[in-house]
Amino acid sequence: MNSDASSKLFEVAKRLMPGGVSSPVRAISPYPFYVSRAQGPHLWDIDGNKLVDYCLAYGPMVLGHRHPQVMKRVIEQLDRGWLYGTPSELEVRLAERIVDLYPGIDMLRFVNTGTEATMAALRIARGYTGKDRIVKVEGGFHGAHDSVLVKAGSGATTLGIPDSLGVPKDTAKNTIQVPYNDLGSIEASLSEFEGEVAAVIMEPVLGNIGPILPEAGYLEGVRRVTKDHDVLLIFDEVITGFRLSLGGAQTFYNVVPDMTTLGKIIGGGFPIGVVGGKRELLEMVAPSGGIYQAGTFNGSPTPLAAGMATLDVLEKERVLERLNSRGDELRKALTQIVEDLGLGYSVVGIASIFKIFFGEAPKNYVEALKCDKAGYLAFARRMLESGVFLPPSQFETNFLSAAHSEDVINETLEVYKSNLRD
Ligand SMILES: *Cc1c(COP(=O)(O)O)cnc(C)c1O
Repeated sequence: MNSDASSKLFEVAKRLMPGGVSSPVRAISPYPFYVSRAQGPHLWDIDGNKLVDYCLAYGPMVLGHRHPQVMKRVIEQLDRGWLYGTPSELEVRLAERIVDLYPGIDMLRFVNTGTEATMAALRIARGYTGKDRIVKVEGGFHGAHDSVLVKAGSGATTLGIPDSLGVPKDTAKNTIQVPYNDLGSIEASLSEFEGEVAAVIMEPVLGNIGPILPEAGYLEGVRRVTKDHDVLLIFDEVITGFRLSLGGAQTFYNVVPDMTTLGKIIGGGFPIGVVGGKRELLEMVAPSGGIYQAGTFNGSPTPLAAGMATLDVLEKERVLERLNSRGDELRKALTQIVEDLGLGYSVVGIASIFKIFFGEAPKNYVEALKCDKAGYLAFARRMLESGVFLPPSQFETNFLSAAHSEDVINETLEVYKSNLRD
């Protein structure tokens, strides 16, 4: 793989941007490849290498790159202008469709990123309940703001400590961490801090360290204990929304949260976030209520047009059904490869989400950390050199898009086989 142009560009980038990149996951060692073009399931870098993309911008590109219907709608929108700073019909129409699809959403606000959506969801939960503490699942990722950049405290205390410089201790201490798939510890935390917790926030399927799936009865149990303790339940469906099903994980597992955050897919590849939930909660948001949230780019028409077109394709062509069964087949084939080679690795995932864990399939964050991270990194590098782009981390999920044909997937399986064997 020739990468002279990328390596040279990275030398310049390093002087200009922290770590040479605009977001930490992109810092591929020793240097990232710079993409010049994307089409369907493929990326091309500035050195002319063609890569099969299983990163898909970390989730949004469910139809693959440059889907013609999405492009058409975006271009039509650009023809009419791309930012008005006033309401447009699109936001009403897309809101109607999201409310129809998500049993946990009666009303919503459009924001610009998943980070903004979870930030707003937590403020709404705190504003509505008048309580400051939140419970968060360990290993769950909800974007890059203070309340959720928190790691578990050590020893007996469950109060969180900052996971980044610059996060105030006083903020972090209000975030209580619990392990995933462990209902007992959520119950224990809610009892210990009875009357102090505004909400439990969680990814229904842990998508940012794996994926890790909920054990049977876990999500139902979380719903039950949050109700019992009069605490709000927030599902962060930024990954699972429009991926597990059109109505997200809450429809897939039939567990309805009080609030839901969406992002990634529903912007069709443009920046978006959605915070939605029960009417009584959202009615407390400004201007109808006293919980403040605002944004110049909220409900901006181009992402809405792209999201609308994406939803049209997903609905009319029943894309997710095909995609999910393709995901099942891919995981089955990968499992066979791993078993035949006797590696002791595990293939995990759901719907169009998949991953090989270099170790046993984890059921929570601490178990995930036991996998062979360095081994995975070396493997991902070899895959890249063989033309397959997997995010270079044991903990980043791999995605399939509707543009990944059987032929493309079969070629990828051969590449997996030879690199795993090596
Ligand atoms: C990506 C992600 C976010 C953050 O979304 P951004 O648009 O990157 O701010 C939040 N929650 C989950 C579950 C995510 O996967």
